[in-house]
Amino acid sequence: MKTLQQLNFTNERAVIRVDFNVPLNDQLEVTDPTRIEAAKPTITHILSQGGSCVLLSHLGRPKGNDPKLSLNNITAKVSEILGLPVQFSSQCVGAAAEEKANTLKPGEVLLMENLRFHPEETAGDIGFSKQLAQLGTVYVNDAFGTAHRAHASTTIIAQFFENKKCFGSLLEKEVKAIEKVMKDGASPVLAILGGAKVSSKITIIESLMEKVDHLIIGGGMVYTFTKALGGKVGNSICEPDYCDYALELLEKAKQKGVTIHLPVDVVAGDAFSNDANRKQFDVMDIPDGWEGMDAGPKSTARFKELIVTCKTILWNGPMGVFEFSNFAEGTIAVGNAIGEATKKGAFSLVGGGDSVAAVKQFDMQDKMSYISTGGGAMLESLEGKTLPGIAALS
Ligand code: AMP
Repeated sequence: MKTLQQLNFTNERAVIRVDFNVPLNDQLEVTDPTRIEAAKPTITHILSQGGSCVLLSHLGRPKGNDPKLSLNNITAKVSEILGLPVQFSSQCVGAAAEEKANTLKPGEVLLMENLRFHPEETAGDIGFSKQLAQLGTVYVNDAFGTAHRAHASTTIIAQFFENKKCFGSLLEKEVKAIEKVMKDGASPVLAILGGAKVSSKITIIESLMEKVDHLIIGGGMVYTFTKALGGKVGNSICEPDYCDYALELLEKAKQKGVTIHLPVDVVAGDAFSNDANRKQFDVMDIPDGWEGMDAGPKSTARFKELIVTCKTILWNGPMGVFEFSNFAEGTIAVGNAIGEATKKGAFSLVGGGDSVAAVKQFDMQDKMSYISTGGGAMLESLEGKTLPGIAALS
């Protein structure tokens, strides 16, 4: 598999699959440009070598043509971030699209219309992929966020470029960050898993069990474990059908030498609301009428003690209902402890959904070694799967 540095882009027209699936407000303005900024190094590198760039992306989940999800809504933002004019093509395939791409000069950038206006994109249609391939001479995949999908522009297209295909620098960074945890992480390796449900994290837990020394379990998942261990969970979120599985996991961890750390105390609310009355309880003894919504202070102190001794840390999922400010302290404390460990030289990766949102909400981005841009793609990587978009580049 080639990296960006292993190809020469002089006079090449690079078809780059980027992930510009950015949030828009009612005025169709970009509210979080992180994904566009993340693609900039790849685009700038190609342009600086005397290449041109044809940018392919999806935006949202349109059913056919939808002006609200036209990528033209973000052309100005892309142009502003790249610091150069960006042309737009209202077709992403066909004669008009190819003509526009063909006239690109070195140093120029062309953004194509939303790929998902065509159902062939998500279907991974080979004819559509071939048409996309005709837009350029080299293929670069820099869309980690969609690398777990075998779509036309993320995977199928790659076969039309033989040796002229490579990782973009964002994709490379993501892959290296995952490898640093899953393959060659310095020990002690710690995974911190939070979030709502055990059932949605089974494959990740199983896969991490093979890689880590310590596993902190937080968030709503906790109560399936404590119920399984004979605790009282009150009104806490709990999946009784998974209690046996939770016990099996605890047993498996013992066999594998993985230490599982559960909270010892919780901050509970008498309703699922930020304004609920709050009370602290032993994690094994939550009365009816109360639901565990955050890790308690004893737990976070213990977690912190462990976190700062670890050399490789993966964080996936919040420690509680961090969206409610009154139940965010556990998540903030864990984030700060990871920041402290990172400062001392640990490698920290935050990835997969809501922990990334938490890190952004509490402005902790600079404290972490790497924050993944891909939700589902990161989760599948942590599950140990090879992503089709990455496999297609080999
Ligand atoms: P996930 O997508 O599985 O990582 O879950 C993230 C969601 O889990 C967040 O929206 C949190 O509010 C929620 N969550 C975390 N802890 C709890 C809890 N104790 N009770 C209910 N929801 C929780």
